Amino acid sequence: MKKRIIFATGNEGKMKEVRMILADLDYEIVSMKEAGIEIEIIEDGKTFEENALIKASAIAKESGELVLADDSGLEIDYFDKAPGVYSARYLGEDTPYDVKNSIILERMEGVPDEQRTARFVCVIAAVFPDGTSRTVRGTIEGMIGYESKGENGFGYDPIFYLPEYGCTSAEISPEEKNKISHRGKALQQMKALL
Ligand code: IMP
Repeated sequence: MKKRIIFATGNEGKMKEVRMILADLDYEIVSMKEAGIEIEIIEDGKTFEENALIKASAIAKESGELVLADDSGLEIDYFDKAPGVYSARYLGEDTPYDVKNSIILERMEGVPDEQRTARFVCVIAAVFPDGTSRTVRGTIEGMIGYESKGENGFGYDPIFYLPEYGCTSAEISPEEKNKISHRGKALQQMKALL
């Protein structure tokens, strides 16, 4: 029987990306739902590492299998690295991202280029059946743009400007984004580790 990995997310988009990048590993990748696991996890860590480990450990305890979990977010240097681990909840969990993005742009009005630096961070934790764990971190550096642009991606992508591409991460294709993104980089590192 093929060994399997449970990836702790309810997000189908992420599952697709994870399966694509880890396809040539000798593991079957299943979601929490496919593994029949339904538990509520409170992500109250102060770092991406803590949150990813909280998620992976909770599922590993429940399943006894190899579990991966990720935590990601946007760090804006001008806001002292906020929203960081609070990225999903920032300015209200149910606030649409076009509203959140407009508020951020407003609060950054008049801020010069050199102070607009930002990055997406993604940490992936692995908890092994013997209870040991590892984390890896991927980042992508960019800047908060001056306007919201692009229809691809999700979340803060329309205001995340990539200077070397001359556009936002919502304006590049999903394939291109996977190659350079924080999540893509973290997944590649995790792949090497497995
Ligand atoms: P989580 O890791 O699924 O909890 O995601 C945290 C939050 O970070 C998301 O809800 C987005 O607001 C933000 N985020 C993480 N990765 C990206 C990305 O690639 N593009 C845009 N926003 C992102």
